[in-house]
Amino acid sequence: MALERTFSIIKPDATRRNLTGKINAKFEEAGLRIVAQKRIQMTMAQAGEFYSVHAERPFYGELCEFMVSEPVVVQVLEGENAITRNREIMGATNPADAAPGTIRAEFAESVGENSVHGSDAPETAAVEIAYFFSGLELVG
Ligand code: UDP
Ligand code: MG
Repeated sequence: MALERTFSIIKPDATRRNLTGKINAKFEEAGLRIVAQKRIQMTMAQAGEFYSVHAERPFYGELCEFMVSEPVVVQVLEGENAITRNREIMGATNPADAAPGTIRAEFAESVGENSVHGSDAPETAAVEIAYFFSGLELVG
């Protein structure tokens, strides 16, 4: 077991429906600790760079438009195996496939507007955290 940090976004469909508290309760109840957090209006440039791995996918433009459509909450979660644990708590990308009790099963509206982002590996977690937070903003 390893104490890890992972990057999380509460996406516009969830901020719009006032679900930030309910979503963060899921993380905290599962033992993940929020060690950095801010609500921001993402810019198109930030969204495009953040999701650049998907630049060739057909949904890329729509995804970027969605991510700037309302404010988001960017945050860092810390805990044992936080990267994998966060993905488990989030559930599958498509809410139709998400396990009962997961954030996406309970709150996501569609495969695109699916309430949360979570890093998928240690390398991406490190890059994504550093994209939005300075070291001084991580207070564990
Ligand atoms: N997405 C989409 N349509 C798809 C697949 C993904 O709109 O068919 C969006 C969705 O918001 C997803 C994001 O693109 O969360 C990133 O996709 P990824 O495959 O990395 O899913 P995740 O890691 O978020 O589960
Ligand atoms: Mg992903």
